Amino acid sequence: MKLRQYIAEAAQALQKAGVDSPRLCAHVLVRQVLGLDRIACVVEAERKLLPHEVENLDALMARRTAGEPLAHITGSKEFYGRDFLVTPHTLIPRPETELLIDKALEVARELESQAGTCGTCIQGTDTRGAGIQGTGTCGSGLYFADLGTGSGCIGITLALELPHWHGLLLDISSNAVETACANAQRLDAQHRVTCLRGDMHRPPLARGGYSMLVSNPPYIAESERSMVMDEVLAYEPHGALFSPHDGLDHLAAAIRAAAGALKPGGRLLLEHGAAQGASTRRLLREDNLFEDTVTHRDFAGLERCTVTRRTCR
Ligand code: GLN
Repeated sequence: MKLRQYIAEAAQALQKAGVDSPRLCAHVLVRQVLGLDRIACVVEAERKLLPHEVENLDALMARRTAGEPLAHITGSKEFYGRDFLVTPHTLIPRPETELLIDKALEVARELESQAGTCGTCIQGTDTRGAGIQGTGTCGSGLYFADLGTGSGCIGITLALELPHWHGLLLDISSNAVETACANAQRLDAQHRVTCLRGDMHRPPLARGGYSMLVSNPPYIAESERSMVMDEVLAYEPHGALFSPHDGLDHLAAAIRAAAGALKPGGRLLLEHGAAQGASTRRLLREDNLFEDTVTHRDFAGLERCTVTRRTCR
C-alpha cells in the first residue's frame, strides 16, 4: 500500500472513531513511525509502505482509535513552539494555556522595566532558586514560581522566554516533578529552573521572595465530571484535573500562596475554568491584598486567565 492511500484510509477510520482532527492525527502517526518530517510526508506520498511499517502504523492506529491521546502515543506535545515530553503522570499541555504565557510575558517585561526603580522594588530578593529562604538583599535576579507545574510547560517556557528570570517549579506529584526536570534538561533550561516536589497548599516559598507567581491548577469541580471528555478522564491524572469546593480549592490555595510569597507590586496569573472568572475575582478581593485584577478571554471568547497585583501593604 502507498503512503498516500494509508493516510487517506487512516484518516477515515479515525474520523469514524470520533477522533479530533483525523487527517492531522493520521499524518502525525505516520511521521512518528516512518521518522519523516511534515514535508517528507508529502514528498514521499507515492512511496510503497513495507509490511513492518504497516504493522507498526496499525498498532498506533489501534491505540488512537481506542481513545488514547495522541500526545501519549507520540510521548510529546508542542507548547508555545517547543516540544514537551508528556507522561501519563502529567496533564497534556493545552493550547489555551498559551494565553497565560502571553500575559505572563507582558507582566514580566513590565516588572523588568520597573525593577530596581524602587518604591515597588520588585527586583532581587535572592531565593536561591529553591525559594526556601530569601537573603533580603537586592541582587541581580528576578524570581517566579509555577504552582502545579505538571510537565513544566508553563515554567520552562517562561524561563526560556525571559533570560533575566529564574523559576521554581512545584508539583505535589513526584512523577510530575521528574517529567518537568526531564523537560528542563531536554530544552536546556535546567540552569534557569528548579523543579521541586511541593504542595501548593503549603508551598515552600520564601516570604515576599517572588515577583511573579503563575499557576494552571486543577480546577474542575467533581459535579462537572460528566462534562469531561472520556479520553481525558481515562488517560489524564485526576489529581491534575479535579479540585474540591466547586473546583476552587487549588485556585484559593494559589491565591493564599501568592499573598505570602509575592513582593509588594508582584503579580499573580491564574488559569481557571470558563465559568470561574467571577469566583476567582471574588477570592482575590477577600483579604484586600490584591488590586488591578483583570480577567482575559481565550480564543474561544471564554474567561480563562486572571491577572492581579499584590498590593504594597
Ligand atoms: N501547569 C501544567 C499545565 O498547564 C499542569 C497543570 C495541571 O496539572 N493542572 O499543563
